Amino acid sequence: MLDICLLGTGGMMPLPYRWLTSLMARYNGKSIMIDCGEGTQIAMKEKGWSPKPVDIICFTHYHADHISGLPGMLLTMGNAERTEPLLLIGPKGLARVVNSLRVIAPELPFPIEYLELTEPEHRIPFDGFCIEAFRVNHNVICYGYNIVVERIGRFQLEKAQELDIPKQYWSRLQKGETIETPDAVYTPDLVLGPPRKGIKLTYCTDTRPTEGIVKNAAGADLFICEGMYGEPEKKDKAREYKHMTFLEAADMAKRARVKQMWLTHYSPSLTRPEEYMDGVRKIFPQAVAGKDGKSTDLLFEE
Ligand SMILES: [Zn+2]
Ligand SMILES: [Zn+2]
Repeated sequence: MLDICLLGTGGMMPLPYRWLTSLMARYNGKSIMIDCGEGTQIAMKEKGWSPKPVDIICFTHYHADHISGLPGMLLTMGNAERTEPLLLIGPKGLARVVNSLRVIAPELPFPIEYLELTEPEHRIPFDGFCIEAFRVNHNVICYGYNIVVERIGRFQLEKAQELDIPKQYWSRLQKGETIETPDAVYTPDLVLGPPRKGIKLTYCTDTRPTEGIVKNAAGADLFICEGMYGEPEKKDKAREYKHMTFLEAADMAKRARVKQMWLTHYSPSLTRPEEYMDGVRKIFPQAVAGKDGKSTDLLFEE
């Protein structure tokens, strides 16, 4: 199960009742945050989540509305007596940007590790899941992210019996472990069927629509996408500032055949995003105007 919360849904500046766009995902005891603008730690607190167990923070890009909350977040994590390392992932320049911000948060009780993205696409594996980063099209270097939870194949009892694999090893093989005994080596592929469909979350902001996003979001269980402008007539403005309209986001959701889409990163002038959703749902029916604190559990298909 991948536990998701859209902590905020604002673009450019935090507003009363609307924090800046940030996502929190939890899987198997690990917490991943994407983007950390001003006030993100308050949004987390409102949700009742502790900042201490955040293990990875990914940044889409270094505009202030996506990273200015970092120094305060780091200090709060330090005050919570975190000692485990924190991994930061972001476009080239990450260490330089973070070290500049850390002038006001120099002493922390935990180490920071950096993973700078330099290629158009990256796949970063962790235990049981992976983070995929892909370049998008904004006015500075910007990446979208997938969080993918893999699911190994079904355990095939008949095969285990046929191969005379001792019963005591079955559950470990089922979890993907390789077992070595003095007489034999048992690998999971002996008893597991083909990998099954896992869980995929796609998050992308700030960007124009691109074919790369459609490709990378393909089949996602949840597509969280920027919708800077609800008004379809703001398409030219969206093009100029390298953002997109709700309708452009809906068109990508449709073409990527995602299961559902949540919009986020609203312009501060857009006070009632719901007002524009009828037009969006004509293009992609499973679209929702994201709201601060909106959460869901993404589950494996049975
Ligand atoms: Zn932004
Ligand atoms: Zn931006």
